[in-house]
Amino acid sequence: MDFLPEKIDTYVNDHTKAESDLLQELNRETHSKILMPRMLSGHLQGRVLSMISHMIKPKRILEIGTYTGYSAICLAEGLAEGGILHTIDINEELETMVRRYLRLAGMENKIQYHIGDAMNIIPYLHEKFDLVFIDADKENYSNYYDLVFEKINPGGFIIADNVLWSGKVLLDEPGVTDDKDTLALVAFNDKVVTDERVENVLFPIRDGLMVIRKK
Ligand code: SAH
Ligand code: CA
Repeated sequence: MDFLPEKIDTYVNDHTKAESDLLQELNRETHSKILMPRMLSGHLQGRVLSMISHMIKPKRILEIGTYTGYSAICLAEGLAEGGILHTIDINEELETMVRRYLRLAGMENKIQYHIGDAMNIIPYLHEKFDLVFIDADKENYSNYYDLVFEKINPGGFIIADNVLWSGKVLLDEPGVTDDKDTLALVAFNDKVVTDERVENVLFPIRDGLMVIRKK
């Protein structure tokens, strides 16, 4: 679901720097070969993630939910000199494609790609993060938040994607209160806004980006 009127959406995209040729190719290949290509961040959100990362200049980034690697490459663009991005995905079928694009982006040394369940892998990452991007299974958003919280430096950020869930978080559609993903996202958004340890803003960009700063 698009929240912006189509003409405004087009204008916004036309007045945001284009994605690189490589990201455009990754976007295109994902749409032609991979299931559920709508999960890929895409042009506008990719540029937003890159911009935020440049603003933070993180030394360590954690991404939960690599998919085909689009958002990982965007986020890694803003890494500080010598910085590392860890990204985790449970879907091993995407490995060959992801590794190919990380190589083409010249980022195979900056991006450490882990395959497996993020809930199992995160406890083994002995790092302190300046930025965490949560974008995997929606049911686990609150669990990921709790699991990464102590691994985030004071003043560090968490960004969680799809927190508007096409508007379903309003819980005003028939049957939506039986949908586990929707209820998990509602619980996550409520948890964040009432958590005294953080400041947060829900940006209505694409499907909703929750931007959280740990005090
Ligand atoms: N961040 C990507 C899109 C991620 S799509 C982008 O913006 O381009 C969500 C991904 O989460 C899928 O690839 C899926 O395989 C992965 N995922 C789902 N459950 C997971 C889990 N328990 N651990 C790790 N990854 C998971
Ligand atoms: Ca997403």
